[in-house]
Order: sequence, then C-alpha cells, then structure tokens
Amino acid sequence: MSISENLRNLKNELPEHVTLVAVSKTKPISDLMEAYNAGQRIFGENKIQEMTEKWQQMPGDVEWHMIGHVQRNKVKYMAEFVSLIHGVDSLKLLKEIEKQAAKHQRVISCLLQIHIAEEDTKFGLSEEEALALLESEEFQAMKHVKITGIMGMATFTDNQDQVKREFQTLRSLFVKIAHNRPEINTLSMGMSGDYTMAIDCGSTMVRIGSSIFGARNYH
Ligand SMILES: *Cc1c(COP(=O)(O)O)cnc(C)c1O
Repeated sequence: MSISENLRNLKNELPEHVTLVAVSKTKPISDLMEAYNAGQRIFGENKIQEMTEKWQQMPGDVEWHMIGHVQRNKVKYMAEFVSLIHGVDSLKLLKEIEKQAAKHQRVISCLLQIHIAEEDTKFGLSEEEALALLESEEFQAMKHVKITGIMGMATFTDNQDQVKREFQTLRSLFVKIAHNRPEINTLSMGMSGDYTMAIDCGSTMVRIGSSIFGARNYH
C-alpha cells in the first residue's frame, strides 16, 4: 500500500484524542511530501542533523518532533524550530534546551523520557528521578522550557502482558504528575508494533514509522 493509503487507514483507526507523529527517520523528502500532501503535519526524527536538513526542505507549517536521544552539544541546531523534544532524560539536558531556547526567544515543549523497558539500552529517568526533576528549583526557574508530559518505550517482546504492564506503569506516572499540573497533557507511547496496546493503556500520542513509510533500510 502507498504512504497516503497507510496514513488514511491509520487515521481512521486512531481515536480523536490521540495525536499521530509520523516517524520519517531515514526516509527521503519525497516520502515525507507524500505524507504531507495526504494531510500529515507532525513528523518525528531521531537525528538532529537529519531533522534540520528536512526542516530546511519541507514546507514551513510542519511540526518537528525530536524523538531520539539528544546530545547536549547539538541542541543549538534545532532550538530555532523544534516543536516537541520527546527524549529529555536529565536536568543537564533541560538546562541546555533552556539556554538555546532563550537565544531564540522561544519556549520549547519537552517530554521526560521514562525508563519502563527491562532492557538497559533504553534511555530514561526512573519515576523518582522524574518527580525530583519536576520539583527542582532549577527547573521551576526555567522560562524557556515547558514540560508537557512523558514518553516511554516498552520492551521489544512478543509478551503482550509485559508490554501492557510497562505501558500501565507509564500511565500511572502520567496521572500522578498531571495532578495539579495543567500543562501536563501528553503521554507519548506506542510505535508500529504496539500502538493499539498503548492506546488501550491511555496513550495520547503515538509515534509511528514503518506502518506508514514501510520498513527502514539502515546502511
Ligand atoms: C523509530 C522510532 C519509532 C517508530 O518506530 P516504528 O516501529 O517504525 O513505528 C518510534 N519511537 C522512537 C523513539 C523511535 O526511535
């Protein structure tokens, strides 16, 4: 099926309250334009350089989401245009985002990445670390970053019970931190292989790549 057909099918399937991030990493501009022409405006990339190159080539009304691990020394390249950074996993990184956002007189929305998978290769904060960060004076003094929610990735496994448990853990934390914090409204969880489960568990934002654009080729 074509990219536009995949998108149409997916849109029909997703509930109204769930935002779709089309994950276009490794894909050429022509593929992104096909999705754009089918109405998609939110794109997710995991490498800052690739995202910046695509931002320069794509129409100006695209919203760019950084979904990958962020190196502090590269924040400056995306501070001008990024609309949501999903993978914030330290106060140090947040400080750099604050600094670079200030240079552009912007307020950049961020999600805290929470470690829910059993693999230790997946980045992220523990629940305690996330709460401590939100409560820290340093964060509360920041004027150019806004934390609007949390993000997580489940373990890559066929064990549906385990995936469900991990998503439920993330959802519980989301409910907890959203209490008395009206700006917290985004729970980013679910990819091509597990978005149905993620939505059942309360996801408000899914990040879907291969189900839209086809399998990726890494060289
Ligand atoms: C690549 C990626 C996705 C999309 O993965 P698919 O399985 O292709 O849907 C989602 N989230 C993150 C963080 C990714 O790196």
